[in-house]
Amino acid sequence: MKCIICHGDNIQMTMIQETLKIENDLVYVPISIPVCRNCGERYYDRKTMRFLEQLYQTLRKEKQMNLQEIGKILLYSCDNVQSELNQIRSHL
Ligand SMILES: [Zn+2]
Repeated sequence: MKCIICHGDNIQMTMIQETLKIENDLVYVPISIPVCRNCGERYYDRKTMRFLEQLYQTLRKEKQMNLQEIGKILLYSCDNVQSELNQIRSHL
C-alpha cells in the first residue's frame, strides 16, 4: 500500500490519539491505525470510522462514560487581546 499523499511506502500500524470534540471538551481516544511514517497521513477504514462516530454519539449523551480527566482546556480571555495583537502588528 502506497501513501496517496506523498506516494511513500512506509505505512505502518501506529498507536494514535484520535481527538473527539464534545462541545468544549476534547476526548483523546487511543486507537491503532495505519499511518504514513513519511508524511503522517492517517488511514481510517470504514469500521474504524463507524466506531469513532458511534463513540462520539454516545459520549455526547453520557459525558462521564469511561473518561478520565488528564488536563484542561483554557481560553485566554483578556479584554485587550486584540489591542495587544494590533500593537505587535503595527511594529512589523
Ligand atoms: Zn505519506
